[in-house]
Amino acid sequence: MPSIDGQTFLSTQYRIYISIRLNQLKTERAEVGERVRKGGEFRVAALEEAKRLKMEIQNLERTLSELDDELLSKSLLLPNDTHPSAPLGAEENATKIATVGPPPRDVDSARHHVSINQDLKFMDLESGAVASGSSWYYLKDIGAFLELALTNFAMSVAVKHGFTPVMTPDVVKEEVATRCGFQPRDEQSSAPTQNYYLHRDDTESQLVLAGTAEIPLAAMFAGKIYDYGALPLKVVGLGRAFRAEAGARGADTRGLYRVHQFSKVELFVVSEGNVETSSRLMEEMRDVQAEIFDSLGLSFRVLDMPTEELGASAYRKYDMEAWMPGRGGWGEISSLSNCTDYQSRRLHIRHQLPPHADQPKPSEKEARGPSTTFAHTLNGTAAAVPRLIVALIENGARFDAQGKVVGLDLPKALRPFWIGATDKIEW
Ligand code: AMP
Repeated sequence: MPSIDGQTFLSTQYRIYISIRLNQLKTERAEVGERVRKGGEFRVAALEEAKRLKMEIQNLERTLSELDDELLSKSLLLPNDTHPSAPLGAEENATKIATVGPPPRDVDSARHHVSINQDLKFMDLESGAVASGSSWYYLKDIGAFLELALTNFAMSVAVKHGFTPVMTPDVVKEEVATRCGFQPRDEQSSAPTQNYYLHRDDTESQLVLAGTAEIPLAAMFAGKIYDYGALPLKVVGLGRAFRAEAGARGADTRGLYRVHQFSKVELFVVSEGNVETSSRLMEEMRDVQAEIFDSLGLSFRVLDMPTEELGASAYRKYDMEAWMPGRGGWGEISSLSNCTDYQSRRLHIRHQLPPHADQPKPSEKEARGPSTTFAHTLNGTAAAVPRLIVALIENGARFDAQGKVVGLDLPKALRPFWIGATDKIEW
């Protein structure tokens, strides 16, 4: 893990010096401005002095902005700490912590969702390619009804558990994504990799399509200081996630598994800033996710993800994987991260500390230390629609004796949210 080097230390100290000096100069500028307004024999000298101060302030503000850029880019090299029990190393070192649901079906390539689509026609990949390119798609008929039912069902479970529903903006400032721990540009070439950029000349900030509703949800809390006892705050967002997936498609070039756009229901929690509380909330969020996937009748397993899979922001991460017999393996359907104070430090999300039993005198306040601290943030997938469609279709397709798909078994939990025809569906 990178540490603070000598240059960074000097930049930090220099930044403090420049901030203090700027404040002094601005006070001087106000005094000189007063002298200019009064006029009289010193007016010409005061005007000269005002000009000099203006130049000096402009120079120092430029230096301050350069130092801020340097320090932000250094801070982005620092990942979060990791939970002491997170497994070390790469993806294959993930620890399985639970297996839930019916036993996995046998692998069967006839159950691949792309093959099933020949009969069930729940998606249109060809039109997606015409409209937008490869890995873009249309959901139609049963596919569209599934998206509506899944998003409403996942929302309803989250709401039942005290999450406030939110419809998020799907476009965010690049800087906000960066502060959440998403570094959209390749470090070496500074070429954009994971984001879709919106090129406009009439907006102040560089805008990107959100890769996940986690980003706009986190931004809802940016710059806030919450009262002691006001946390946790729990929201559930429905947004579209856009992923360039540069170079990431690998074996998943067919169908819905890895696409450029998908609807996602996302849980987001702002917790009091201590690890005991945020770890407890993480377990509660895991229970909400497990309730959703269990009610959908999926065979799934829960993995404690190893250190190399935590990205910059996560302190601990649980992935859930569902059995997909047509794809022939487990496929990730959700991810849950405790980001502790990584995002809140960069987005300035704080809360008051508990009040002291005896009120300090003003002179004692400094000695008692700060009165606020950084909150913790957590995020988790409640429904990543295409992956759930893959799992439900590959497990639920019904075939006739000739191997033609004649219908689909769906979980009863979706029935109240189904607004389509039901002739092919069994609940
Ligand atoms: P992430 O925010 O990358 O952890 O993704 C959250 C969830 O979205 C994952 O657990 C997957 O279920 C799903 N997902 C991620 N990337 C894609 C993609 N390109 N296409 C479809 N689903 C995805």
